[in-house]
Amino acid sequence: MPGGGARLLQGGPIATEIRQAVSEDVVAYVERVGRRPVLAVVICGRDAPSMVYLGQILRSCEKVGIEGRLVEVDGEASESSVVEAIQALNGDPEVNGIIVQMPLPPTIRLRAVVEAIDPSRDIDGIHPMNAGLLRLGYDGFLPATAHAAVEILRRSAIEIEGRRAVVIGRSAVVGMPAAFLLVRENATVTVCHSRTRDLARHVKDAEIVVVAAGHPGLVTGSMVRRGVVVVDVGINVVDGAIVGDVDFDSVRPLASAITPVPGGIGPLTNALLLAHLMRAAKGQEAPSETTRDTPIASPIVSRDRVAASRGVR
Ligand code: NAD
Repeated sequence: MPGGGARLLQGGPIATEIRQAVSEDVVAYVERVGRRPVLAVVICGRDAPSMVYLGQILRSCEKVGIEGRLVEVDGEASESSVVEAIQALNGDPEVNGIIVQMPLPPTIRLRAVVEAIDPSRDIDGIHPMNAGLLRLGYDGFLPATAHAAVEILRRSAIEIEGRRAVVIGRSAVVGMPAAFLLVRENATVTVCHSRTRDLARHVKDAEIVVVAAGHPGLVTGSMVRRGVVVVDVGINVVDGAIVGDVDFDSVRPLASAITPVPGGIGPLTNALLLAHLMRAAKGQEAPSETTRDTPIASPIVSRDRVAASRGVR
């Protein structure tokens, strides 16, 4: 390939397109409803890496006209005070979407917090109801990172249907939802994880590899087949630099397309979160105000419906 390597799948230009559409949605929303849409970000303790991520989200909100509200709960707070803060947001008609900054302090159960979020405001798709909707092929809210991992393929016109995909990582927020989305796109999917034997054998067989393990250098050139498409979701700090889970230098010469880290999935995740917020905001309008014919902001259009209508399962 000219330039000695794979096509770079940059998230930035796609994120710009999505943010542009969100900005237009925000203008129309403000005209209809008379106020800005609101994203509430709940944080519990000022964990340094997550504060950086949080700052990015709040700045992105500002750029597209969404009001980002920071809701700080004391880092020493009890589980019930975090749950109460979320319940107060659920009951606030101005709040359209809620995200909770992870990781939570070890004394607070993830499950209690996740279940407290109103599913219709759960724009990062972490509530069990949204996870279940994804599993069953309905259009619930998707976890933004998993959504980004598949959306970058779709928007880059990379064929997914019928191809062998390996997802490395089985977390509830990235690996598993990415796997379900790939199945929805009619890929044949293998999920690998920390107990998988002979990871390299599975990866070698794959035409698409999505890596979300949090393990720098996990996938190397010797593991992949020529022409593979690689989506690197990992974010790791090594010697002060941000790197993914893929050994970029050894994999790129063999791949046909690869996402860089940084600059691949990260910017797209952020933009999709804003798109999910506008979907929530529109869904919460009274039926008479809702533009029923407005397409869902989530750009994933499920092809399984088409497949299902043809009797394909
Ligand atoms: P997690 O720790 O919850 O899950 C990691 C998964 O990887 C687990 O299922 C585990 O079984 C698997 N795994 C770990 N080591 C492995 C190995 N050696 N071989 C095979 N599988 C292995 O992490 P997560 O929340 O799913 O995040 C995964 C990565 O994605 C992290 O690097 C995280 O920072 C990154 N992330 C990126 C974004 C983004 O916007 N780009 C957002 C969220 C998370």
